[in-house]
Amino acid sequence: MDFLARQKKLREHLSTTRFDALLVSHLPNIRYLCGFTGSAGLLLVTEAGSVFFTDVRYDTQGREEVKGAKVVIARKALLNALGEWLEARRGRSRSRGWVVGIEAEHLTVAERKRLGDVLPARVRLKEAAGLVERARMVKDEEELGLIRAAVVLGASLFDRALEVIRPGVKESEVAAEMEYAARLAGAEAMSFPTIIASGARSALPHGRATGQAIAAGGFVVCDFGVILAGYCSDQTRTVWVGAASKEARDAYEAVREAQLAAIAAVRPGATTGEVDAAARKVLQRAGFGRYFTHSTGHGVGLEIHETPRVAAGQKEVLKPGMVITIEPGVYFPGQWGVRIEDMVAVTDGRCDVLTPTGKDFLAV
Ligand code: ZN
Ligand code: ZN
Repeated sequence: MDFLARQKKLREHLSTTRFDALLVSHLPNIRYLCGFTGSAGLLLVTEAGSVFFTDVRYDTQGREEVKGAKVVIARKALLNALGEWLEARRGRSRSRGWVVGIEAEHLTVAERKRLGDVLPARVRLKEAAGLVERARMVKDEEELGLIRAAVVLGASLFDRALEVIRPGVKESEVAAEMEYAARLAGAEAMSFPTIIASGARSALPHGRATGQAIAAGGFVVCDFGVILAGYCSDQTRTVWVGAASKEARDAYEAVREAQLAAIAAVRPGATTGEVDAAARKVLQRAGFGRYFTHSTGHGVGLEIHETPRVAAGQKEVLKPGMVITIEPGVYFPGQWGVRIEDMVAVTDGRCDVLTPTGKDFLAV
C-alpha cells in the first residue's frame, strides 16, 4: 500500500483548507493512512509530516507497521501525549494560532473535552467532516485485488450454507458452520454477525441467526461476509425451503430483476440516487414498492459500511474504483422476506460484479 501517497494527497488537500493539521482518531482511517492495524492509536497529519501515537502494548507492532509517520509510544493516555507533543512544538510558538481538524464522527464528547483541556491555548479544534472517508471511497488497484479475494472467500461460505440448510436445523447452526468454514479458509473474522433469518424472521432485514429451527415452506435470508487482509466482503442470498408457491417465486423474481436493473445503472457519472431509483422502479411496478423498506446499497472496503450511500435522492457521483453493494429486498412482516446482494466495482466503462454466486431461484 502506498501510504506515503495517501498522506501526501491528504496534506495537499489540507493546504487548500483552513486546517493546519488533521487529528485522525478513527482506526480504519489510521490504517488507511499509515498501515497500523492495532486497536489504540492517534495520527496527527501536519503539513510538515505525520506523527503516530500509540501505547506500550503496540511498541513493537507500531514500529513495524506504521509507514510515513514518526512513532511516539505514549507512557500515558494518548490524548495527553498528543497534548504534550503539541505543547512542546506549538505552545511557545510566536506564529499565529494553529487549527487542528478533528473527526467529529469518531471522537466522543468526553474525548473532545479532554483534548480541549490538554491542548496549548494557541491550538484550536475544528470539526473536519469525512476527509479521509472521501479519499477511501475510490479504491486503488491493490485494494481492489484484496477486495476481490475477500469476496471470493466470502462467496464460498454460501456453498457451505446450502449443504447445511434443511428443515429442523437451527439458524445458529448454519451461521456456525459458515463462520467455521470462513476461519478455516483464512478469514480474519466475519465482517458482521452472520444473518440467517428463516420463516417469518426473513421479513426482518437484519435478522441475526437465532436458535430458531428452519421450517419447510419459507425463505431463509443469508447475509454474510468475511474480512481478509483488512478488507470486507458482503453478500446476501435467499433460498426457499420445501416446495415454493407461485407468490414466493414471483416476489423473488421481482427482487432479482430490481437487483439486475440497479447493477445495469452503475456507471461512472451516474449518481448513487439514480442506482437506487433503478431498483425501486422495478419493485414499484411489480406492486412491491412499499415493501422495499431500506436503501439499495452502501460502499464497502476497510469497513463493512462506508460512503457512498446508495439511497433515494443521493447525489454522490460514481467514479471508477468505487466499490458498492446492490441489495434490494422486499419484506412482508409476519410472513417472509427476500433480499439479493452483490458487491460491484465501478470501472471506466460500467461495473464489474465481484460476487460470483448465481442468483436464480433456489429451493432446498
Ligand atoms: Zn449484507
Ligand atoms: Zn450490505
